[in-house]
Amino acid sequence: MTVENALAEHSSALANQRNDVSLIRYSGRFAPSPTGPLHFGSLLTAVASYCDAKANQGTWLVRIEDTDIPRIYPNSEAHILACIDAFQFQPDAEIIFQKDRLAYYEQVLEQLKTTHAIYACQCTRKILGSNHIYAGTCRELNLDFSQQAIRLKVSDQRICFEDRLQGQQCSNLQHDLGDFILKRRDGIISYQFAVVVDDFLQGITHVVRGADLLDNTARQIWLASVLNYPVLQYMHLPLAMNDQGQKLSKQNMAQPLELSKAPELLQHAILALGQPHVDLDQPNVMLKQAIQQWDVSLIPQGIYLSGVYQ
Ligand SMILES: [Zn+2]
Repeated sequence: MTVENALAEHSSALANQRNDVSLIRYSGRFAPSPTGPLHFGSLLTAVASYCDAKANQGTWLVRIEDTDIPRIYPNSEAHILACIDAFQFQPDAEIIFQKDRLAYYEQVLEQLKTTHAIYACQCTRKILGSNHIYAGTCRELNLDFSQQAIRLKVSDQRICFEDRLQGQQCSNLQHDLGDFILKRRDGIISYQFAVVVDDFLQGITHVVRGADLLDNTARQIWLASVLNYPVLQYMHLPLAMNDQGQKLSKQNMAQPLELSKAPELLQHAILALGQPHVDLDQPNVMLKQAIQQWDVSLIPQGIYLSGVYQ
């Protein structure tokens, strides 16, 4: 795809979104990063996002978030696709891969340059040190964009949203974080940036994901507002923890989902989400039953699930 095509497509998506009265519809997504095989925590997100979309007569899309190429784990992309098949999820559009979409992100960067919403930052990790709040050192330096990190300006204001499970969340990005990175010096597009652009271009209206991403949301809302993108609805699910009290993750040796145990794992995931029992069957039959019974008010409260998972 050329940048010109990306520009045209992006502009027309923006125009359609603004004129489209059917925006009230539901479009959800499952957006795993291939930094390791999918595990039980990933399955909870897939099941909840799928059931919530389908119970609301919505569409459900899958997007592979693979912009951070150095962190991609061998074969995990194949494992994600095999899981979608084995659990018999039915995406409503072709699965997209962010690494194929770099032209879109570059085009949006150009747009942000013209409004001076972004700037180049030459600070090295050494200069930044362990300080997690960026002081805005390069904000007024007008550095050339090439070969530098690119940061988005934030403002001194509270950003609040009502999470469907976690309630009202507020954050002041200037106090909590400072101007944040959209593109790294090594050319890698940040997670925050790619998510916002793709949620918009895919017409996503509802985000259902793990509570570990709760504190990323203010950044995404801010960036979306700078780009005049519509506001999304968020639901952050409680996290499955292991017997060490750690969130299930590749780093914590979470077990990869076993494709041959799809019905049992699905039954377990539906139960962990507080939903009524679903009989063992073909996964698509089980999902259908879970959608019919889906009730968000039954999902356990809080940031963590109380059980122990692997
Ligand atoms: Zn800097």
